[in-house]
This record gives sequence, C-alpha cells and structure tokens, in this order.
Amino acid sequence: MEEKYNAVVIRATNYKENDKIINLFTLEGGIVSAKLVGVKKANSKLKFAGEIFCFGEFVLIEKDGRRTVKEVNQIDSFYDLRFDLDKFYAGSTMAELVSKLLIDQMKSYELFLCFINALRTLNEKDINADLVLATFILNAMKFQGYELDFEKCAVCGNEIKHRSFFSFSDGRSVCSNCAGDVDTEIRYSTYSLLKECSVSQKDISFNFLEKITFDENQLKNVLRFLDFALKQLLDINLKSLSYFTE
Ligand SMILES: [Zn+2]
Repeated sequence: MEEKYNAVVIRATNYKENDKIINLFTLEGGIVSAKLVGVKKANSKLKFAGEIFCFGEFVLIEKDGRRTVKEVNQIDSFYDLRFDLDKFYAGSTMAELVSKLLIDQMKSYELFLCFINALRTLNEKDINADLVLATFILNAMKFQGYELDFEKCAVCGNEIKHRSFFSFSDGRSVCSNCAGDVDTEIRYSTYSLLKECSVSQKDISFNFLEKITFDENQLKNVLRFLDFALKQLLDINLKSLSYFTE
C-alpha cells in the first residue's frame, strides 16, 4: 500500500551496510518510521532524505506494518542549520522534544506548523538559536495541554513586579503577596523573559522574537527553567537540552 505524508526527518539512524531508518514527523500521522534502502551508496537518488530536517512530501510503501521510502519531493532541507552549531543543536533539541511528546502516531497540526516555522526561522534569520528554542518549547507544551502562564498573578490578577514565584503544580505564576509554601521563587529577569516569549505565542511565525532584548545569562536561565518544567510536568528529560543549560 502506498502512503503519502508531508513530513520532516527528525532522526536518521544507519541500518545495515547501505540503509538508513528515518523517523518522520508527519502532518497526517504523527511520528512514522521508514527504511531508506541503499541510501549510503554513492549514486543513491534519495541520499538527501536521510538527513535530519529534510522536509518534503514522502511517498512510502507499507507492507506488513513496515514502511520503505519510495520517493521524496523535497520542499526544504534547512541546509544552513548544519553550519551553525547552536542552530543545529536547537533544531535537534526541538526534534527530540517532538519525538517525546507525540506517542503512537498522535497527530498535531499546530505542533507540525510550529516546528517547520521554527526550523525556517533558524535557517533563514540571523537570530539567537536559544531564543527560538525556548519559544518552541513553550508552544509545544501549550499544544499538548501544558500551557505555562506568565501573564500576571494567577491568584490576585495583579501584574507581577520585582519578585516572581511559580507554581509547578498548575503551571501558573504568582506574585510575592500570593505565593504559598509550595511555590518556587524564580529570578525576576527569568520571569520577564519567559513572559515576553510567551506573550506572543499565538504568533507561531516567530517574527516577534527579533524585537526581544535579553542577555545570554537570562536566556540560559529561561532554558534551565523550561528543562525543569518539562521534567516536573511532563516527565520529559531532554538530553540535547544540556548543550544549552550547562
Ligand atoms: Zn498575587
């Protein structure tokens, strides 16, 4: 049976002498894996499809639950990501998060669009990779039902000033007057950058990121916070994120 998917390669693993197994994040069917036969041979026409971030229309042949790639019409390779280590790792971390969020061919149109936009932003713009990554993580959590709220104090509704606390049990921010024993204080600079990244979450084109000002340390703390939130709320440990947080 022939299947068609709009998809992006999120993982490619060598298999036997000349083959690869690719994990695809597909628009139509969540995560799908398929074999690329003979792709490591010099004359293979599908060599490009064995590279992480290859985005296109994949035609797969399914037989007894196993899939083989028949042909690929590439839309974008996001090629420039390979020449910037920070951007490459940001893309890889996003791919790891996608593979951990989507279980058993779970579909997510929003997450797919957001992932493609994030890769495109990294590929085409002179932009800080960590900032794109942080915003992608916030969006991805939201799409999976774990929206983190930094807008204002979740208890009294006032704007949070000077000191900020976070409730990991329900993903909401609280002010110093309303904070309880279980709430965690987070640096105000971390809070304010998280707020900026999440305020414009509805705009998943990532265009608004160019207007945000920050320093490197502040951004590192934002990613540390998100690393912790992913562990606490979703039980997800993103190995590639350590590149940015250590
Ligand atoms: Zn309050």
